[in-house]
Amino acid sequence: MKPTQPEHAAPADAAARHAIAPVICYPVETLPRADLAALRAARTGWEKISETRVPPRDGRCFEVPAGHFFRITSIEGPQVGDLNLWNAHDLSERFYSGKTRALHGTHLSTGDQLWTSHPNLRPMATITEDTLDWYGFDTFGGAVHDVIGTRCDPYTHHLLSHGHHYHACCHSNLTRALADARGLSLTAAEAVVHDVLNVFMCTGFTRDTGQYFMKASPVRPGDYLEFFAEIDLLGGLSACPGGDCSSEHSSDKVTCHPLLVEVFRPKAPPAGWSSPARNGYDQTHGR
Ligand SMILES: [Zn+2]
Repeated sequence: MKPTQPEHAAPADAAARHAIAPVICYPVETLPRADLAALRAARTGWEKISETRVPPRDGRCFEVPAGHFFRITSIEGPQVGDLNLWNAHDLSERFYSGKTRALHGTHLSTGDQLWTSHPNLRPMATITEDTLDWYGFDTFGGAVHDVIGTRCDPYTHHLLSHGHHYHACCHSNLTRALADARGLSLTAAEAVVHDVLNVFMCTGFTRDTGQYFMKASPVRPGDYLEFFAEIDLLGGLSACPGGDCSSEHSSDKVTCHPLLVEVFRPKAPPAGWSSPARNGYDQTHGR
């Protein structure tokens, strides 16, 4: 058991140590940023080239060529989606939730970029519109579209439920979807499923214990989160068994809804845009 009280007395200068103001770990002023106006201008006259309906408690994959847009839309009822993104040509380059969080904060919205894993570390997608941007942070510290959760998974559930097997967690939904999309074994697909962007999910950390919390998503049918693909993408989306995540996940108990993914091709690439190169670090690591 974790002790409920500290086991060590505070030093004499504890108040002074507490009072030190924080500094931002990664100031982003020097980060190359997307030209949001140019990206949005490219939407004029775009053409929808595909759509994918993600059934409740299941997952689907979709392809988005570089320079195209995709939208994830709530349909039929409030529903949370767990998003994975891969380089369509190299599944080892995938969305890096942790570094994206370190750069852009705990929750993403318009203008934020989704970064890829080492050694590539480059933007793979840019958020170009978020109809839930009005939500901001509520009084509990909750906000929408987090990169602090991981994905509901059957292993954690197995531990917490003392041995129960549940097969429609987002981790499994994404694993099956990727296996089907790329003809992979479940084992090979599972190995590249990764921490997600929790689309439409409303989450935060409790102020007293620092625990990850969720609450009913403010999403309503018609709301969407829109992305611009910076590189050729393979996406995976799971319609979480938690539904709007107001009560529980990892079960079939709550009401769930489908999600819609639409891919759009602009008439011409955004002005001044080019697909980002892989990270320029020389990878010699001091040797
Ligand atoms: Zn889930």
